Formats: sequence, structure tokens, C-alpha cells
Amino acid sequence: MDSVLTARLARQRQNQRYRQRATTSGIGPRFQRQGREMLAFCSNDYLGLAGDPRLAEALAKGARRFGTGGGASHLVCGHGEAHERLERRLARLTGYPRALLFSSGYQANLGVISTLLGRGDVALHDRLNHASLLDATRLAGARLERFAHRSADDCAERLASLAGQRRALVVSDGVFSMDGDVADLDPLVAQCERQRAWLMIDDAHGLGVLGEEGGGTRQAQGIAPERIAATVGTLGKALGTQGAFVAGSEALIEALIQFSRPYIYTTSLSPALAWATLTSLDIVRDEPERRAHLSSLVRRFRHEVSSLSEFDLHLMPSETPIQPLVVGPSWRRAPGERGGNEAAALALTAALQEAGLWCSAIRPPTVPEGTSRLRFTLSAVHTHDDLDRLLSGLFEAARRLSRTGRSV
Ligand code: PMP
Repeated sequence: MDSVLTARLARQRQNQRYRQRATTSGIGPRFQRQGREMLAFCSNDYLGLAGDPRLAEALAKGARRFGTGGGASHLVCGHGEAHERLERRLARLTGYPRALLFSSGYQANLGVISTLLGRGDVALHDRLNHASLLDATRLAGARLERFAHRSADDCAERLASLAGQRRALVVSDGVFSMDGDVADLDPLVAQCERQRAWLMIDDAHGLGVLGEEGGGTRQAQGIAPERIAATVGTLGKALGTQGAFVAGSEALIEALIQFSRPYIYTTSLSPALAWATLTSLDIVRDEPERRAHLSSLVRRFRHEVSSLSEFDLHLMPSETPIQPLVVGPSWRRAPGERGGNEAAALALTAALQEAGLWCSAIRPPTVPEGTSRLRFTLSAVHTHDDLDRLLSGLFEAARRLSRTGRSV
């Protein structure tokens, strides 16, 4: 076995796709990494709650009161008071009758799609949907089809061509994790209603961030909850803990409890974490200034980075804390050479790291060829001084690398 795996790993290295984990210590966004201070712009801790002492306190209290682990699955004896309370609060936040906890967003997506669809059914995905939604479709044994990114018209055409199929579920991220843009829910909902398709939104990156009360993409766009059959939210991003939930109708939640294998056959989320997440929800409700500060960072980042266009670096049309900067074609090593901007994205990221600034380089196959990018994620714990540091580091790195004839 090892020789087969070693050969596969070698191919991964050859293709420059080999990824390294970094071990950090400390609390983000200020980490120590290999003895160096790093200011991170790559976490999904959008409201800065993961390091909030109030959550740490609630976690410790929850552990003392309910234990650190659930000890069993929800249907055996792992479903406690903390879970029950959190589900009620999450239902209220998202505007649905009920919510159901899962241990991760990945599992929640597997759980919903594999319960709603089976062989012969179709899941129609936005082309940029998260990998967990695609894996969920495979687990369900359903046919996977895609529509053009954010295009309700293309979705409608494909739905029409599916007429006669047993069942169709339209699936879209709320906020797209690689581009940072947001689904246009109104026309999508209308098309699904017209063609009697079900609609599911994965709002992992919208919950807590978008909407007046942090209720997510649906709230921000003023769509009534009953028009979206299932909404998935995660606890590990803006809410600063871990886990996820599905929000929907009474019937959907009962069906998941009865039939969803990724719900049934796993230990429940830690009750201490469920308890701590109640404190996250208090903060989401009581401190809207976090969302306001985050929005001001996003606006300033976009305004200042737009002056970098001389370097053939391009902001994508994102108004969310996910801000990708696409490395344009003039960064290619030679005209027509594939992957040149991929190398530039890596070189720019490395130069930023040298300056103690940490962002992600996102490359194919995660994004299409020719759209390699640096992805910055902003958080309410970043200060305007942090942003100054990032902007001057980015400018400096781009200038230095472009002076080397862009042969990076
Ligand atoms: N959906 C989306 C859109 C995501 O970006 C992610 C995580 N990156 C997930 C689901 C999975 O959530 P979790 O990390 O809680 O498993």
C-alpha cells in the first residue's frame, strides 16, 4: 500500500499541488507560527468570537454542567438540554420553525441531501458550490447537475429540461467561499417555486455576518423562510465554536431525525460547545457593531486595493468579508504559459508571509485555471491598523515581485 501512496504523493508534489499544514499557537488572528508572529487574514472567524473570553468561560461552565462530550448519539442518550436550547435559538435566528444540530457543516450537508434525494433524483447545483454539497449528492446516489454561477435563468432552463424526473433539489451556497459573492435568492426562489423544485441554501459564510440581526443571506435579502426548504448554517465560522445545523420545517427536521444517517450514526456535538454557542448567539444579537466594523474594513480594503490595478491584481465583485484578489495574465512567466499566475499567487503569498501576513493562495483545481488568487478574509477583530499593515505589505510584495520581470 505504501508504495502506491508514495507514488501518488510524488505526483502531487510534481504538480505543485502538495499542501502543508502549519502548526500555530495562540489565538487568531495573531498566531505564532514556527516562532514567528503572524497576522492572519485567512480564518472564517468573521466576528472574532473564537478567541472571545466570554465564550471560553461559557465553554468551561457548560463542560462542568453537562460534560465535555455528548457520550452517545442524539437518538441514544446524547441529546441534552444545551442542544435543545441551542436548536431553539438557531431556529429563531434563522426564522424557521425548527433547527437540528450536526457536528459539522460537512456532515449537515451530507445529512440533508442524502435524506431528501435518492437514486433517480437530481441535485442541481450552482457551479461554485462547496465540495461537501457535491459529496453529499454522491452519497445520496442522485444525479449531479450544475447551473451557471448565480444564474436563476440557467437554473430554470435546466429544471425545465428535467421535467419528468422524480425529484429535483436546487442547491446553492448563500455566500460563495472562494469568490465571496452572494446568491441572488429572489429569482432563484421564484424559479424553484414555478417548477416545483425544492431549494436548499448552505449559508455557512453568511450566518452571523449578513442580515440586520446576523440571520444570514436570506434575512439580508428579505426572503421569507418558508420559501427555502432547508438552510444549513455552521457554528465554526462567524459563531466561533464548532458544529452546524439545518433549519427548516417541522416535517424536514423530523425526517432528518428519523432518516439521516450522518445525524443518526454519530456522537452528538459536545454539549459544552452547544452551551458556549448560546453565548455566541447573545453576542451576535447584542453587538451589531461587530458587523458594522467588519463592513467598514471590507469597504476600506476594496477601496485601497483597487489602486493596485497597476499590478494586474483584480478584486472580485464581493461585498462580504471573503475578498479574493485574482492574479491577472501578465504575471505569467511567458506568453501563453499555463499556470504562470498560479506561481505568482504562490510567490505573492510567500512574500506576504515573509512580512508576517498570512493569507491563502487558492489555485486550480479549487478554482478554474487562470483564476488563481490570493484570498483574504477579514474579521471584526482586525483593526484598521491591521488593515494598514496588510495593505502596505501587499503593495510592497507586488512591487518587489513585479520588478523581477514578473518571472515569479
Ligand atoms: N459549507 C461551506 C460553504 C463551507 O465553506 C464549509 C467549510 N469550509 C462547509 C460547508 C463545512 O462546514 P464545517 O467546516 O462546519 O464542516
